[in-house]
Amino acid sequence: MQTVGVIGGSGLYEMAGLERVERQMLSTPFGHPSDELVVGELGGVRMAFLPRHGRGHRLLPSEVNYRANLFALKAVGCDWVIAVGAVGSLRQEISPGHLVVPDQFVDRTYRRPSTFFGNGIVAHVAFADPVCPALTRVLIAAAQSIGVVVHPRGTYLCMEGPQFSTRAESHLYRQWGCDVIGMTNLQEAKLAREAEMCFATLALATDYDCWHESEADVVIGDILRILNQNVATAQHVIAAAVGSLPTQRSCSCARALEHAIITDPERVPSALKLDLRPIIGKYVA
Ligand SMILES: [Zn+2]
Repeated sequence: MQTVGVIGGSGLYEMAGLERVERQMLSTPFGHPSDELVVGELGGVRMAFLPRHGRGHRLLPSEVNYRANLFALKAVGCDWVIAVGAVGSLRQEISPGHLVVPDQFVDRTYRRPSTFFGNGIVAHVAFADPVCPALTRVLIAAAQSIGVVVHPRGTYLCMEGPQFSTRAESHLYRQWGCDVIGMTNLQEAKLAREAEMCFATLALATDYDCWHESEADVVIGDILRILNQNVATAQHVIAAAVGSLPTQRSCSCARALEHAIITDPERVPSALKLDLRPIIGKYVA
């Protein structure tokens, strides 16, 4: 049975419809995940749900232990990871309430560990195409099947936060060709790739970022209303998507580490081999 990991963002702290639920607090070599993993079944598919900021929204984007989160999802057997996140729109055509399934990222973070490697083992995974083509196709088709407006590609600028961008930055990111702006999904994409899990982002446009003239008129009540609406939409899309995942993974995500580990296996410290076994065990015994 396949396992799908879902990382919930702002507003998404529980997965509706999850059955046979079991809560697990995992300990990883990188510390504890943001919260207990909620493992259950959705439409006959095994699912592990994790609220990125913890229940009650306690963690800043910079404080989230991305390594522990992704390690925990790998450890419970996830092959697929869907990351849900609220974003600001950098494009007129991406209206608040729309979904975007990004195919690219630009990194503007600077204070977060973003790799499982180091301390005696070096690996360089390919990241030119940072999301899984198979999983993105499934998400897009699922959104279309339930009549949601979905933009099937886009560049996600990941900023450090917690403050939103300045107007100068917002204009700059638009010139760079970015489409949405958020604070969390890039580390998850990198770590999922290192752990050979198929990853895609479901980005929920909550507002226009501050480049937009209408932004000054936006009141927090509008943003929260759209956020809640988006969260309900995301749950429907995920429920529709999990049933149509391929039974076998034929994408390259599943073999991302095959030629990526550079360190001589003989030289990898044995404690590290043990710690990273769920990730590298296939290649470094
Ligand atoms: Zn894949």
